Amino acid sequence: MTGYSVDGTRLWSRLMDMAEIGSTTNGGSHRLSLSQDDEDGRELFLAWCKNRGFAPVFDKIGNLFVRRAGRNPAAPPVVIGSHLDTQPNGGRFDGVLGVLAGLEVLETLEDLGIATETPVEVAVWTNEEGARFQPAMMGSGVHCGVHPLAEALAAADASGVPVARELKRFGYDSGMEPGNRATGSYLELHIEQGPVLEQEEKTIGVVTGGQAIRWYTLTLSGEETHAGPMPMAMRRDPVRHLAAVTELVYRSGLTDPDARATIGKIETLPGSINVMPGQVCLSVDLRHPGEAALEHMHGALAEGIARLNTAAEGVDIRLEQIWHSPAVSFDAQLIEAVRTGAAARGYPSRDMVSGAGHDAFHLAKLAPATMIFVPCRDGISHNAREYTAPEHVEAGANVLLDVALQAAGVRALAGGTA
Ligand SMILES: [Zn+2]
Repeated sequence: MTGYSVDGTRLWSRLMDMAEIGSTTNGGSHRLSLSQDDEDGRELFLAWCKNRGFAPVFDKIGNLFVRRAGRNPAAPPVVIGSHLDTQPNGGRFDGVLGVLAGLEVLETLEDLGIATETPVEVAVWTNEEGARFQPAMMGSGVHCGVHPLAEALAAADASGVPVARELKRFGYDSGMEPGNRATGSYLELHIEQGPVLEQEEKTIGVVTGGQAIRWYTLTLSGEETHAGPMPMAMRRDPVRHLAAVTELVYRSGLTDPDARATIGKIETLPGSINVMPGQVCLSVDLRHPGEAALEHMHGALAEGIARLNTAAEGVDIRLEQIWHSPAVSFDAQLIEAVRTGAAARGYPSRDMVSGAGHDAFHLAKLAPATMIFVPCRDGISHNAREYTAPEHVEAGANVLLDVALQAAGVRALAGGTA
């Protein structure tokens, strides 16, 4: 612990003020990426920054950066980031907490007159949610060279409006080239979006990394035919094997408590009551914190499908992998700093792996990175009911401050001065 603390009341009131922009009748927030509401939220954030003398810069994908100088201006900054966009009818904390806690760290340093060795910077990443434009985590992905800028600019929403047009509307097209900034280390405070911390009465989640994810299209193909004339024994009916296939998917997810298997979509073709379908398509999402364990889940599923031997009945089953996001491991030193920071302040904590995707996953490719989780009520997120208690917000921001100070070269409180 550094002996310094954030102003929890200021941070809480800012969270509530931000929630007024794009507020929904049921108490949530609706700020789709690059909408007028999202831009209004960014303007409010920038007004708070400018009020403290922090000048923002932005890049061509609309990522915002706000820097507080360090003693050594040439040193790469400690970057604290997250997002201000929300899901449709989303909550008040997802993403917003990370950005406003970052600003709270900068303001605390100002209030207390603390000089850091490296600069400390707050980043607001464009389109983290992926609700309006795909892919999700777009701004951080472009920043880290994962997505080409041109592809991201061309991504269009459901009504055909491309990202580029909205960026131009709000003036971001005149920004710097994305990725043209050094990052010394990256920190992100986020709500857990799951029930574990609350259930175990922990205040801080020490995030060691992110799950590996594989997406598949699973297709069962036979031959469609009229529901009446064709005798059952002569049909090539893929639906007959649907139950066996879904059982295999679920079995792969029940191998150990860290495994997850989800069938999100099931579609029959042509999808008519009196037609025996010629095809059934399923989406499969497999996850595990360990790459080898995920590989094992994949193997078990593929083998199980091969063993079903449906060819004898004229049904072909194909498992096609369409996406793989490797497991993410955060930086050991930063993880330890979160762990010891929480312990020094007396906050109960536990190690955990993030089940959801975050901007920090991309940033971990550029620099040492980690995340800090705080509990959210009933584990509910992407929902107007999303709620994190003020004391947990403050606790998370305090640990963020401790780790940021350590990373930025302020070790401990020495006789009241830094
Ligand atoms: Zn988020």
